[in-house]
Amino acid sequence: MAKSYKNFIAGEWVAAEGGASYENRNPADHGDQIGTFAASGPGDVDRAIASALEGFRMWSRVPAPRRGEALKRAGDIMTEKKEELADGMTREMGKPLVETRGDVQEAIDTAYYAASEGRRLFSHTAPSELPDKAGFVLRRPAGVFGIVTPWNFPIAVPSWKIFPALLCGNAVVWKPAQDTPWSAVQFVEILVEAGVPPKAVQLVTGFGSEAGAPLVADERITGVSFTGSTEVGCRIAGVCGANGKRVSLEMGGKNAQLVMDDADLELALEGVLWGAFGTTGQRCTATSRLVLHDRIHDELVGLLVERASKLRLGDGRKKDTEVGPLVNEDAREKVETYVRIGQEEGATLRAGGRRPEGLDEGWFYEPTIFTGVTPSMRIAQEEIFGPVLSVLRVGSLDEGLEVVNGVRYGLSSSIYTRDVSRAFRAIDRIEAGITYVNGPTIGAEAHFPFGGVKDTGNGHREGGWPVYEFFTDMKTVYVDYSGRLQRAQIDTWSPQ
Ligand code: NAP
Ligand code: MG
Repeated sequence: MAKSYKNFIAGEWVAAEGGASYENRNPADHGDQIGTFAASGPGDVDRAIASALEGFRMWSRVPAPRRGEALKRAGDIMTEKKEELADGMTREMGKPLVETRGDVQEAIDTAYYAASEGRRLFSHTAPSELPDKAGFVLRRPAGVFGIVTPWNFPIAVPSWKIFPALLCGNAVVWKPAQDTPWSAVQFVEILVEAGVPPKAVQLVTGFGSEAGAPLVADERITGVSFTGSTEVGCRIAGVCGANGKRVSLEMGGKNAQLVMDDADLELALEGVLWGAFGTTGQRCTATSRLVLHDRIHDELVGLLVERASKLRLGDGRKKDTEVGPLVNEDAREKVETYVRIGQEEGATLRAGGRRPEGLDEGWFYEPTIFTGVTPSMRIAQEEIFGPVLSVLRVGSLDEGLEVVNGVRYGLSSSIYTRDVSRAFRAIDRIEAGITYVNGPTIGAEAHFPFGGVKDTGNGHREGGWPVYEFFTDMKTVYVDYSGRLQRAQIDTWSPQ
């Protein structure tokens, strides 16, 4: 019998109302059932928010450095459990162990960053325009936040939201992706073990429409931090906008790697293999377009096709696996649809384009490369979220930058060149939240801002320090110690 996992509400592990549950399977092996998980509904979300409001009242009074100590312990526990977590995460969502270890490490880094932020939470002060008067700004806990996350970084992405939210003294109600509830249960167990008061953290697993929708629409929350598709994110933003709630959105991407004719081609090759096929292409920052200068196009495509065809597919828990499965059958069918679209649009299939032989027990798909892609094709415009790379050919830096920018998204980007002027022109002109020079589009570090422009985001950033702005309220304080009524803008100081 597969193990049955529950929600975490009001400090207890409890089944969903009415006992509703769903099963979750290993994407590399359909026969391997990970467990059954609570399929939560509005009633569960309602109780979770009520309890989080109580948790907020208590946790928000704990001094920030003390809150940071609990998050430091969470980082320590994750460090001890890194292998165990990585193994379970790979079993749950498929990417190879080397990547799930990195996923856990990112959460550890984020925990330690948050812990140290407990002794900063810096704010501003400025001189008053009046004599004997002081002005400064405090950062205050803001309330209860709804946290809605995707499955591709089952611990790292939640950590970017939950650790800063808690450090700032807020409570959270978390609806993780339906495909990665096991990882979410581990995360919450670690927080509680680390000493975060149980009511400050609530977990409601289940489906977006049944558990996510009532969470983001509840009037009692202060705001929502969301990572996922642009479609769902914009819908959530509509609900939050109508309710006057703040919302932070990290959404889709169609990231490009631009390779100029003066680039180190070996380096560019390693970069695109990792960027396009790491996590089976299921990263928001995945390289899904390769934009090649005409003069190196054929040589790089030749090398790339050869190397991509040799990537070892398999169960991510096996030592020599380089590429794992897609997360579920729907994701694989979406990839198949786009491969068909690419062929109908007239692009040339140079590698992959099919399910691999001998791996029928999982949702595998071969690393796929299209050449002859033009900027207006759907495979050059739409997020596929799988191991499909579209190669476009350009004749100059200007044309390359135009192609790179010619999509609705703006998350990550990359240029390979040895020419410093070209590199800086690209840094200046690429419309994206992240630009790499001589590195692939993936590989964010926890202490730098992370996020995108255009339809990728709504102006907020995670990672590093800006996320602490989102999760706090500012209070401006004026202290007048003159002993008389001083009127700003009216009583002016003049030299005697
Ligand atoms: P998704 O379908 O948008 O789902 C994201 C989360 O929203 C899941 O927990 C989902 O629940 C929930 N949800 C769905 N409908 C909802 C609703 N009406 N109300 C509230 N919540 C709802 O995205 P995904 O397929 O999990 O992830 C892939 C997408 O995420 C890609 O577009 C990728 O680019 C993006 N992504 C972006 C970043 C970034 O930082 N920019 C990072 C990672 C991923 P269910 O699981 O039940 O559907
Ligand atoms: Mg699954």
